[in-house]
Amino acid sequence: MTRFALLIRPVAADDHRSGFSDTFAETDPSAPALSVGELSTQRGDGIFESIGVVDGHAQEVGPHLERLEHSARLCDLPAPNLTQWREAIAIAASHSGPGEYVIKLILSRGVEHGPTPTAWVTLAPAADNSQARTEGIAVVTLDRGIDSEAPARAPWLLLGAKTLSYAVNMAAIREAHKRGADDAVFHSSDGILLEAPTASVVIRRGDRFVTPAPGAGILHGTTQISLFQYLSSRGFEVGYETLRTEALAEADAAWLVSSVRLAAPITSVDESSLTVDDELTAEMNAYLLSPRD
Ligand code: PLP
Repeated sequence: MTRFALLIRPVAADDHRSGFSDTFAETDPSAPALSVGELSTQRGDGIFESIGVVDGHAQEVGPHLERLEHSARLCDLPAPNLTQWREAIAIAASHSGPGEYVIKLILSRGVEHGPTPTAWVTLAPAADNSQARTEGIAVVTLDRGIDSEAPARAPWLLLGAKTLSYAVNMAAIREAHKRGADDAVFHSSDGILLEAPTASVVIRRGDRFVTPAPGAGILHGTTQISLFQYLSSRGFEVGYETLRTEALAEADAAWLVSSVRLAAPITSVDESSLTVDDELTAEMNAYLLSPRD
């Protein structure tokens, strides 16, 4: 249940005022706050970010704001003022407590014919993800139905932007559940491994960890970037590669990684089992739960 909500009046990216409190309005999270003309609800026309909060610390705020800026650019939304968003995130984080929370940033195209985009930030307790982190998840591979050249050929598909249009992603997770799995991993129609509906894929081959290149119309995961820094500090090799779908089932180990669930080891791919390294997974999650900027 959402604990805290702050409405934001977005200002220009080059507005350098000393504080943004006059652009924020706290609102009762259980009361109606949006106009029925909102294009975010009518068309899913907007972008978002989900940020993990651990013991009051909002994780990886800089990389999340960079991706918000990137999504805004792809969607022709006005560039967000990152200092304003940082201030809103700090206010939301100050309403959390011990344990894990999630802050959502939402930037919508606004109300039809309205003057500016609309924006808001929410804070809610995170779901308990301990089982996925320790016992792992079974995944099925699903065809996204578009080929690997589509992102470059058809940028209006907005592949690579974190848009509010997640109905397809949620449908893929329901399909995975119908097939008896916990989650899905998308591949392109020409067999290139992509991402999960709400997470990045990380594969281990010997002492090298790889993930699909973000240019293929997938999100560049903040958790994957941070995890690769950790793994290379431990002496492992890391890299981006174009991977065939089969690479997942053939991996020495694999994880789905994302800001709130963190590292969930994959126990099986389309019913073929994968080895889980409990110790390394626990170390990865301990790192991901430590304060990160
Ligand atoms: N890919 C998709 C489609 C996602 O929705 C997400 C996160 O929600 C990710 C990847 C992982 O991104 P992050 O690690 O920044 O949470």
